[in-house]
Amino acid sequence: AQRAAAAPPRAQAVPGVKRIVAVASGKGGVGKSTLSCNLALALRLQGLAVGLLDADIYGPSAPKLFGLSGKPRLVGERMLEPLDGYGVKVMSIGFLVEESSAMIWRGPMVTSAIQQLLREVAWGELDVLIVDMPPGTGDAQLTMAQSTPLTGAVIVSTPQDLALIDARRGVAMFQKVEIPILGVVENMASFACPHCGTVSNIFGHGGARREAEKLGVPFLGEIPLQMEIRETSDAGRPVVVTDPGTAHARAFMDVAQKL
Ligand code: ADP
Repeated sequence: AQRAAAAPPRAQAVPGVKRIVAVASGKGGVGKSTLSCNLALALRLQGLAVGLLDADIYGPSAPKLFGLSGKPRLVGERMLEPLDGYGVKVMSIGFLVEESSAMIWRGPMVTSAIQQLLREVAWGELDVLIVDMPPGTGDAQLTMAQSTPLTGAVIVSTPQDLALIDARRGVAMFQKVEIPILGVVENMASFACPHCGTVSNIFGHGGARREAEKLGVPFLGEIPLQMEIRETSDAGRPVVVTDPGTAHARAFMDVAQKL
């Protein structure tokens, strides 16, 4: 019998790693790294073996978010050992080079750095590896999406029109390379005043949910705009670990449940 045409070649698997989930955004500053970090920790709290690869070469934030410094150790001849961030195995270019030197790397160097961070790190057995993608939808992101065996992608956006336009591009980019969209997350959704409790929608509200519906992809949830999220992130003590009982920590955990 005639066989169906072969599927397009997929990127080579990373041994021992069951699922690789990209967290992406159409532009910077929408909370992609904050979400990546707290999602990884929420999955860890579920009892999974979790890694986080900070692939944001030009603006690595995992060292700060997890409160980690120090250099990864070499295992064997050329494998690097990830650092331990609250039980999550973390690797970032920020552990390896000064930020100012990575800043001037050209595209191909960035691509090969990311591949090294993926394949020359002793991740061990992982149920899930979260990849904090470089922001945007340019060439670097496309190459990254193609050369990494991604199980799927989570797109994060604020409720604002402008951010949503970029998020739409992100969805289109992954669809183009046939990577499933696991869903869209709305970050910086509503703000509850800590003094009077009044809820304000500083960047609007519900935009990402509507957009997800329009695009026919799942909506995974909303993360409120919350001072404690920013403060704990800056302090390297992520809210999912330090204050898991709060509504905003639960918001991250609810998203993690759906992955
Ligand atoms: P990106 O990775 O998309 O560039 P970051 O995760 O670095 O964005 O977030 C940008 C800034 O916004 C950081 O200072 C972070 O602490 C803050 N931030 C992100 N999400 C929230 C939120 N839900 N509430 C308050 N501050 C947030």
